[in-house]
Amino acid sequence: MSPSAQSKESAVPAASPASADPSKPAFDFLDLRAQFASIREEVMAAVTRVFESQHFILGSEVKLLEEEVAAKLGARFAVGCASGTDALILSLMAAGIGPGDEVITTPFSFIAAAGSIAHVGAKPVFVDIDLVTFNINPALIAAAITPRTRAIMPVHLFGLPADLDPILEIAKAKGLLVIEDATQAIGSHYNDRFIGTIGDFGCFSFFPSKNLGGAGDGGLITTNDPATAERLRMLRGHGSKKKYYHDILGTNSRLDALQAAVLRVKLPHLDSWAAGRQNRAERYRKLFEERGLTSFITSPPQPPAKFHHVYNQFTIRVLLRDDLRESLRTAGIPTEIYYPLCLHLQRAFRYLGYEPGALPVAEKASQEVLSLPVFPELKDAQQDLVVQSIAAFRTMRGGA
Ligand SMILES: *Cc1c(COP(=O)(O)O)cnc(C)c1O
Repeated sequence: MSPSAQSKESAVPAASPASADPSKPAFDFLDLRAQFASIREEVMAAVTRVFESQHFILGSEVKLLEEEVAAKLGARFAVGCASGTDALILSLMAAGIGPGDEVITTPFSFIAAAGSIAHVGAKPVFVDIDLVTFNINPALIAAAITPRTRAIMPVHLFGLPADLDPILEIAKAKGLLVIEDATQAIGSHYNDRFIGTIGDFGCFSFFPSKNLGGAGDGGLITTNDPATAERLRMLRGHGSKKKYYHDILGTNSRLDALQAAVLRVKLPHLDSWAAGRQNRAERYRKLFEERGLTSFITSPPQPPAKFHHVYNQFTIRVLLRDDLRESLRTAGIPTEIYYPLCLHLQRAFRYLGYEPGALPVAEKASQEVLSLPVFPELKDAQQDLVVQSIAAFRTMRGGA
């Protein structure tokens, strides 16, 4: 064992944060190596199959993945594309949304949903979130609707479904489309249906850190409408059905056969990996309870029965967030802040004219959130160290 590997090992069970090298985390925030080791042979066989075929774009691997994802999620159609961002853009294009239109979305998320709305020339309209779920607050949507509103784009943030029933009700009453940003939540369900199949479009990402991650970029759109599926297929291939004949204007956003082949190996594991994440989330809650940390930090509660959380992230709230994060960093514990600046306050969206304070709940969340490591292979000892270090910080600060 090398000296560095040794210190890495000993850093895990150590009670004293001082023994860790502050420049290096004791373990990775997301470590996919154990997952790969468990499916290595199947993945390598799938990759070899694609190389031997020398068919790298779309083709049978992509068609099979589309069929398998559609069957798994209970969607009538699935259309692969180049990324989750493109899934959002292609959905907006297929809906004919563009200049002069408004789309309602959340200010507390990765930029892709709001960015896609702007990318097609429409205006993102931000509606504040619920502090417990971090998702768009449906009670605030009606007030944001104008004659120009065409769609609502909820994000199922961190793997927890947005509250779709009231969103669908408003959409139906006002004749709006619902485009689900399901990029962080593949496999989660709401009532008894998989998210992404409940609205008009479901947008998925296969970015490696998502719950179903490829070996690079990839995305997919689900829909139950045959004409929409046909339009999406045309849009991803420059608007053509017949080669070199272009009926509409599209773009190049195809899924690679290599990605599809890898994803086909991983898809059957989706539920057991989600169960592994849920198990780690449940254990965090138990440990926080045991250590009396529940008044110091707010962890995501076990959601009501109709919501199914797949924990792409386990995100707590804590008032002394930045100090806690620094203290954890020196103890060798990796954390992330998703997301440090709300979308309505981003420089790129300055033209929309939002001022600080406009969306107070999202802004509060951005100051208090801290995402902790959560993945199926996260070890008990690693999780214990995370919780011990939070407790040590609380004691140091004289908290009860
Ligand atoms: C990852 C992500 C996307 C975009 O996915 P890419 O495949 O990276 O383009 C969109 N929205 C959210 C909330 C995401 O987390």
